[in-house]
Amino acid sequence: MRKVLVMTEAKAGNLRGVSLESLAAAQRIAEGGEIITVAFGSDCSHYANVLGKHGANKVYLVGNKEFDVYTTDAYLQALRQVIVEVEPDAILMPHTAIGKDLAPRIAACFGLGLVSDVIDVQVGDGDVIFTRPIYSGKAFEKKKAVSGIPFATIRPNNIPVAEMSRTFEIVHFNAEIKDLRTFVKEVVRKTTGRVDLSEAKVVISGGRGVKSSDGFKTLQDLADILEGAVGASRGACDAEYCDYSLQIGQTGKVVTPDLYIACGISGAIQHLAGMSNSKVIVAINKDPEAPIFQIADYGIVGDLFEVVPLLTEELKKVLVNS
Ligand code: FAD
Repeated sequence: MRKVLVMTEAKAGNLRGVSLESLAAAQRIAEGGEIITVAFGSDCSHYANVLGKHGANKVYLVGNKEFDVYTTDAYLQALRQVIVEVEPDAILMPHTAIGKDLAPRIAACFGLGLVSDVIDVQVGDGDVIFTRPIYSGKAFEKKKAVSGIPFATIRPNNIPVAEMSRTFEIVHFNAEIKDLRTFVKEVVRKTTGRVDLSEAKVVISGGRGVKSSDGFKTLQDLADILEGAVGASRGACDAEYCDYSLQIGQTGKVVTPDLYIACGISGAIQHLAGMSNSKVIVAINKDPEAPIFQIADYGIVGDLFEVVPLLTEELKKVLVNS
């Protein structure tokens, strides 16, 4: 039995899905032991019930208003203090922009090894084994901590959320924050505020073949019907058809949705690095030789400006009018 600490993350007043997925991973590691979560921000108390429903025994609320917007300084100091108090046997964090920034610093503070971008967690022969993709998703490696406690970041959309209602205790934690060097005055969001791309179950992605920012509206219509998010290749971003925040790939976001529809994307290796682990891949391209068809589960050879509106119309009939 282990005591596992899970750092949770919220966005726009809701816990991010990957927080609950990290809790599911914690249940496997804890093997019946204690699961302690930590949530940040002046509004964080309303996450406690959700965390309790997903297996948390104890919810640390770091409710100071310094934590409403992420800053490395403040979060690092607070999380460090929570870890010192809790003395966990394992630590998990979401593999998000925040997790990627914070986890290596925590690892350095406590002299721990960090396994990042984990897609599966198993316990065998008393060891916690983390699985993570390498070589842009072409192979997988299994890692365990040989000294110190297991510490990992969990990639969104890979570990199924598990419900397990528990009576839980709330701890209002007063983090002592000093010498802050960063203050966020305003957050200007570039994305639409629709579905979060990194956690979307459906991603409709456009490439240079979409030809214009107007062309991306065609993709957004399909994404809206499927309650998905729009992504893009770097080709489309470079051509200024859309914002770089939508870029998927080696130098963009990594996504693992249930359904990825690539529209007018050739399938360059750098693009595949960000989406090849999607569960079902559909490619729409007018070139039958486009490399994207080699990794697609379903391929449609055709003009995306004919195929995508047709798909949207048909799905509308099935999903909206039924
Ligand atoms: P193209 O390769 O130009 O493909 C356009 C496709 O659209 C073609 O296959 C064409 O047949 C099809 N098409 C055209 N018109 C239509 C139509 N009407 N209907 C249907 N299909 C149509 N790329 C990324 O995506 N993400 C990254 O993170 C990334 N990182 C990179 C990092 C480095 C270091 C380097 C060197 C490159 C990186 N790239 C990345 C760029 C990558 O190599 C490709 O150049 C890029 O992915 C190509 O984008 P694309 O597929 O949209 O464009």
